[in-house]
Amino acid sequence: MAILGTDIAHAKQLLEQGQLVAIPTETVYGLAGNALNPDAVLSIFKAKERPSFDPLIVHTDSIEKIERWVTHFPKALKALSTAVWPGPLTILLPRNELIADIVTSGLETVGIRIPNHPLTLSLLQSLDFPLAAPSANPFGYISPTQAAHVNEQLGDLIPYILDGGSCEVGIESTIVAWENNQLHVLRLGGLSVEVIENLSHQKVTLHLNQSSNPHAPGMLKSHYAPRKPLYIGDIDQLLKQHTGKRIGVLSFQHAVPDINIQRTLSTKGDPHEASKNLFRFLRELDQSDAEILISEFVPEFDLGRAINDRLRRAAYSE
Ligand code: AMP
Ligand code: MG
Repeated sequence: MAILGTDIAHAKQLLEQGQLVAIPTETVYGLAGNALNPDAVLSIFKAKERPSFDPLIVHTDSIEKIERWVTHFPKALKALSTAVWPGPLTILLPRNELIADIVTSGLETVGIRIPNHPLTLSLLQSLDFPLAAPSANPFGYISPTQAAHVNEQLGDLIPYILDGGSCEVGIESTIVAWENNQLHVLRLGGLSVEVIENLSHQKVTLHLNQSSNPHAPGMLKSHYAPRKPLYIGDIDQLLKQHTGKRIGVLSFQHAVPDINIQRTLSTKGDPHEASKNLFRFLRELDQSDAEILISEFVPEFDLGRAINDRLRRAAYSE
């Protein structure tokens, strides 16, 4: 098992040696390595068993540093990221030769963000290289929002986990690109479309590719998935359809009578509280002795849209 702690100097030393360290962010825990060291990046893909066509997001602590690794920083993206960072927004920028092909799966753009977590920000400030960090879970499984989740699954493969408590946002960052003088959202996430539109004073275009085609990087239909079958829809109907089975229920606001194994995302009906709880509850239900899991969609506004996107992918089966 990995060692858990808050020793930034130790994390820095390991990363400088090309080793991997799990880091807390406000979205989910990341499996981090030196983004400028292709061997370290390769070991991230290996540890996660992540396909090489799925590019990594690069993390750092300042816009000045970002300028070292990109050829151009469109004004609109700079204004938006300055308003949001540190925060759950990833932007795509044209990379220069310091960012190796392996990081971006050969794409000419690199996804970059400044995460909002005090431990990880201090670590990033102490480093003169950025950290490539996908979520710290085996590829396709539920993302980790606590240090213990990382340890359960990747603890034998990494020396150290920076323990920063529970992730406040709880779902991955929103990914935005600038093309043809327009903002495009490529992945829904912890920053809502409404907030992006308010901050940027423009309508964004959604490009949420649902294909399983490896050439559309990372936009896989099946993702964030528990090991147990997950069905989404009207909870009462699903309960009837699956009578006789041990069922674990994930509801949005209201607990379901007479169900032993269940979690409720937010009794207040708050999409932010729901996103913070989503992956932890899915993981707990997956580890319960339920045979199947059922859930309902949450209201489709604010972070609810990103939550529903995760639920859809978690439930997908072919
Ligand atoms: P994560 O799974 O949170 O590590 O985020 C990685 C995801 O970001 C990938 O699966 C892609 O969907 C997206 N991504 C990262 N870099 C790029 C890029 N250069 N172009 C398009 N999408 C990217
Ligand atoms: Mg992930």
